[in-house]
Amino acid sequence: MFDKLLITDLEVKGKKVLMRVDFNVPLDVERRITDDTRIVAALPSINYVLDHGGSVILMSHLGRPKGKKQPEFSLAPCATQLSHLIGHEVKMAPNCVGSEVDTLAGELKPGEVMLLENLRFHLAEEHPEQDPLFAKQLAQLGDCFVSDAFATAHRSHSSTVMVPTLFPGKAAAGFLMAQELKFLGDTFLDPKRPFHAIIGGAKVSSKIGVINALCEKVDTLFIGGGMAYTFFKAQGFDIGDSIHEDKFLETARDILRNYQSAGVKLYLPVDHVVADHISEDAQVLQLDTFQNVPAGFQGVDIGQKTIEIYSKALQNASTIFWNGPLGVFECPPFAKGTESIARTVAKLSAVSVVGGGDSVAAIKAARLEDSITHISTGGGACLEFIEKGTLPGIEVLSSKNTVLRH
Ligand code: AMP
Repeated sequence: MFDKLLITDLEVKGKKVLMRVDFNVPLDVERRITDDTRIVAALPSINYVLDHGGSVILMSHLGRPKGKKQPEFSLAPCATQLSHLIGHEVKMAPNCVGSEVDTLAGELKPGEVMLLENLRFHLAEEHPEQDPLFAKQLAQLGDCFVSDAFATAHRSHSSTVMVPTLFPGKAAAGFLMAQELKFLGDTFLDPKRPFHAIIGGAKVSSKIGVINALCEKVDTLFIGGGMAYTFFKAQGFDIGDSIHEDKFLETARDILRNYQSAGVKLYLPVDHVVADHISEDAQVLQLDTFQNVPAGFQGVDIGQKTIEIYSKALQNASTIFWNGPLGVFECPPFAKGTESIARTVAKLSAVSVVGGGDSVAAIKAARLEDSITHISTGGGACLEFIEKGTLPGIEVLSSKNTVLRH
């Protein structure tokens, strides 16, 4: 399926490899990295270049500085952490473009690594049309390009889609990108059946595309989380103050009809936990979903019967895809549904793919990572890949049949 150049197809000896990574890591108030998974995930590609006699110029975004230089969004903590991980100094550039950066890049020797400052300090990163020169300035820093930022490959930004086009025949996928595409490609192109998907999260509007695409691929879809309430309201249930989207009631009905006519079973929660507010000391009730939710209460988690029904129905799975929490899992009393389904998925011998920050966080909080076949580094990217079968940041990479070994 994958006809794009891989990092191993590039001649990196003596070359400066410009690499788009995703170092958009969580930081605490003192700007310490609280989870370095994304940096660790880029190590195979970085080490490959260093071990093969090249130097690496890394570029990433961090947070949403909205085109302004803001010290709290500096990537400097990532340079420090990467230095620890690879065992030698990573130079931190004061900017991502400009004469000073050009000089630093020019001086970079084989075996050295430099991290460019946050791409999103420049408006042109997220809005390439505003300044096409920005991508050119970035591109001139390197001899070839590697994309290892799967999580941002669904965004048509300067560094993800413009820069690669400036490296004809020399824009390759890194190991992380290739691994993501292999697992997601294998899972969705030729899944072992039965194939079950679990989709949760706050809003149905952000997942309509993937829910529709899954209708053609899965045997069963399990819905949970806040998005279930748009389906309940569409069916005429009284949902009290639960999160829902009135504009998508008809869409929800369409989805139910489409699944029914395709013969794909779609499960909605049969019971739930409702609370008068979202906090540990909230007043809570356990209700069946056909029971009216009292005014002032909102649905916050799937209920015990739903946990049991979903867990039982998942048992025969050969492939599972999961995206989105099944309740307000950030608040511990409402995390039971998400945690229980995480444990069920982890215990199965099925191929399991989990994508999306919150579902991955739930898996990690329960220390179940080792029992999941593939934890995707992408949330939105993962969903868009399932929906469209490709991403803008993948399309622009060089094809295998272009001239190799420059
Ligand atoms: P998403 O980014 O769409 O996957 O949504 C994740 C968010 O959905 C998390 O922050 C959850 O707290 C939220 N969520 C899940 N279930 C509910 C619910 N029943 N009511 C409100 N928010 C929810």
